[in-house]
Amino acid sequence: MNISVGRRPATVVATAALLLLAGCGGDDGDGGDGGTAADGLTVVAGFYPLEWAAERIGGDRVSVTSLTAPGAEPHDLELTPRDVAGVADADLLVYLGGFQAAVDEAAESQAGDHAWDAAEAADLSLTAEEHGHGEEEGEEHAEDEDHAEGEESTDPHFWLDPTRLAAVGDALAEQLTELDPDGAETFEQNAATLREELETLDREMTDGLTGCRVDTLVTSHDAFGYLADRYGLEVIGVTGLSPNSEPSADQVAEIADLVAERGVTTVYTETLVDPAVAETVAAEAGVETAVLDPLEGLTDESAGDDYLAVMRANLATLQEGQACS
Ligand SMILES: [Zn+2]
Repeated sequence: MNISVGRRPATVVATAALLLLAGCGGDDGDGGDGGTAADGLTVVAGFYPLEWAAERIGGDRVSVTSLTAPGAEPHDLELTPRDVAGVADADLLVYLGGFQAAVDEAAESQAGDHAWDAAEAADLSLTAEEHGHGEEEGEEHAEDEDHAEGEESTDPHFWLDPTRLAAVGDALAEQLTELDPDGAETFEQNAATLREELETLDREMTDGLTGCRVDTLVTSHDAFGYLADRYGLEVIGVTGLSPNSEPSADQVAEIADLVAERGVTTVYTETLVDPAVAETVAAEAGVETAVLDPLEGLTDESAGDDYLAVMRANLATLQEGQACS
């Protein structure tokens, strides 16, 4: 679903394809000065927030593509042979280890030392239960399931805390500088500008989410842990860390009880995730639903055209849904 290419005249596409081929050949031929400013660095990002950060920091010294197509859900991404070849050819793969198994594999097998895992800079300090919120039905989930009941997993969704994304931006600037030393000043400046914008957003969110009447945040999947942690909310994810697991009827009932207990008035569905489960919980508890965007990918339906705009839309949605003053 590549809309921008679809709109272009065929000749332009053909020319672009030729340039692409020429580019690949050149890269392989004279590896000695690969990645100089003249031809620009090629960066492949795992998914949207990393793509956006790489574009912002690299500016016109890099060209960035994302392995996760717009509108695709990144957790269970599968790579085409073409994607894998793109990883092998790129000057840098920017990914998040432990988030997308296919990308981890490509990083290991294709990218050599040209892969950068953002996990350390992101400081993935939060964990969440992989499955459900009850202990009662432990027997039902047999041992042969992927995740044992109640197993703790690292929460990958760091980008929903803007300050963590800023830290990743700073570290990424250093990575790009290693590959393109002439760009050092540009990368450093761009990272500083990005940090400023993210810190402004962070202040808006801190102010906007102070004094909310409801501090429990009920979302489809458990993507908002870092956001909740940063802004003093407590998150309950209906399906756990991955949007594709199905909660049991007991778990849905249990969450509906919590919703009633804590005076929750809004259960959030998400872009890119089937809203059915969150809607079931909301219906069971007799509360509203609203849409939050975990920014795992942008689509035409996103509530803004970049990370900052969508986060501000999320803030407005949260202020209403959590009854913030
Ligand atoms: Zn997620």
